[in-house]
Amino acid sequence: MSAPIDHPLNDPNSVKERISRRFEDRPQDEQRDFLSMTWCQSCYQADLGMTDPIEYEWHGRVFVEGRCVQCGERVATEIVEED
Ligand SMILES: [Zn+2]
Repeated sequence: MSAPIDHPLNDPNSVKERISRRFEDRPQDEQRDFLSMTWCQSCYQADLGMTDPIEYEWHGRVFVEGRCVQCGERVATEIVEED
């Protein structure tokens, strides 16, 4: 039995399972918001921000992943669409 997978950074297979999306097609203000809303597992701190963002779908959920501004480790934010 495997534990439930809840986050792409915790799943070594997630890179193969990703469906790429186009983060750069989002409006500028949306991009800025997503880039600032981060949780870094390494710094153990929220909202440090990220660089080099990519967007992808994984297990039916959408994430923006990049590098922590402070330490450079990978961070990923789940995007929950509101409408
Ligand atoms: Zn960090």
